[in-house]
Amino acid sequence: MTEGIVRLKRGREKPVRNRHPWIFSGAIAHAENAVDGELVRVLDHKNRFLARGYWNSKSQIQTRILAWTDEPIDKAWWRAKLQHALGLRQNYAAASAKPAYRLVNAESDFLPGLVIDRYADWYVLQALTRYIDEQKQTIADALRDVAGVENIYERSDKPARQNEGLASSNALLRGGPLPALVEIEEGLRYWVDIARGQKTGYYLDQSENRRILAGLVARRLTDGPGKARLLNVFSYTGGFAIAAGRFGSLHSVNVDASRPALELAERNFELNGFDLSAHGDTAEFVLADGFDYLRHSVRKQESFDFVVLDPPKLAPSKRQIQRAARGYKDLNMNAFRLINDGGYLMTFTCSGGISRDLFRKIVFGALADAGRQAQVIRSLSAATDHPVSLSFPEGEYLKGLLLRVF
Ligand code: SAH
Repeated sequence: MTEGIVRLKRGREKPVRNRHPWIFSGAIAHAENAVDGELVRVLDHKNRFLARGYWNSKSQIQTRILAWTDEPIDKAWWRAKLQHALGLRQNYAAASAKPAYRLVNAESDFLPGLVIDRYADWYVLQALTRYIDEQKQTIADALRDVAGVENIYERSDKPARQNEGLASSNALLRGGPLPALVEIEEGLRYWVDIARGQKTGYYLDQSENRRILAGLVARRLTDGPGKARLLNVFSYTGGFAIAAGRFGSLHSVNVDASRPALELAERNFELNGFDLSAHGDTAEFVLADGFDYLRHSVRKQESFDFVVLDPPKLAPSKRQIQRAARGYKDLNMNAFRLINDGGYLMTFTCSGGISRDLFRKIVFGALADAGRQAQVIRSLSAATDHPVSLSFPEGEYLKGLLLRVF
């Protein structure tokens, strides 16, 4: 079968030459023999080779690029790419008997449409595009060769697949059987619900920020009097509160709108050897809307030494930015009102459309309205297993600030 060809309009080759991985329909002059979910060659308007990628006419991004040289894309190619991705993780992953990290971060690892997360001896594969979906057995084979993996579960159930004309798939791909929960260890221990949890089961992107919080909490407990108080809003399975540990001397309030997430948060405290029934004053799990809970806490004049705000994506697309900005402002303003003098706020946005600069302005607006003062102690990002490709700035979705508040 002849490979399809995608010819760009005159003057539209520059982003491709600069290694941006996406080609929108508007840049394409002509496509020949291009089949959805299969490889194509990308040429400039004079028929000169630019790249190899894959095609899907149903997607707005009709071509995603895999290689900028004319090379065969086969199992050996996949092995090399996975090895490359693994190399980075081996340089950074903390030593652990049950490691957890993102092995492949899609476009940011030069593998558009593919996410692979590792949870101890389980790997979770997420195919976001038709080509990746069709190649998943090849990818699973290459993964076995490179990482010696027997157990792979597929969590291809993101709504984004609809744009590709794909149904969702949540099933065992290889090995198994999948236990109800998989235990990982990042210093502390967590249960991950691979089949039913959010994302691929866990928010790996926050692992380093959790450690930063843990360090601060540890200091506060050495220096300060009494029990420290942490408000962990949008807690999911308790990530930040568990990492902060020090169960005996930290009181955490974990707020989330998902009951299964909170149930698992509770089990995560137990997994780390903390008996909540005996120390009921140490952790609370509140099933509530995060916005409402913050407002309610301000009304009750509560106070905390640490507040973490890790809301879901409030602006999934550019059109929602205004509304999302009001949402972030509301959350942060109420958080500022709850923080003790010299306490800390760790605040995040994972909306692609909200830039670091805009986020900082929104948080400043919230600070001004709350009548407080704050210093930026650190600018926060996703962990090192979520690299960002310089030629694909869209990949930098998680932005945060660590602030000291007065
Ligand atoms: N901080 C978490 C990850 C948070 S992800 C961690 O470290 O693992 C965002 C969380 O917000 C999800 O758990 C989701 O269930 C929750 N959520 C979404 N909308 C919410 C709302 N309106 N109020 C409270 N929680 C909400």
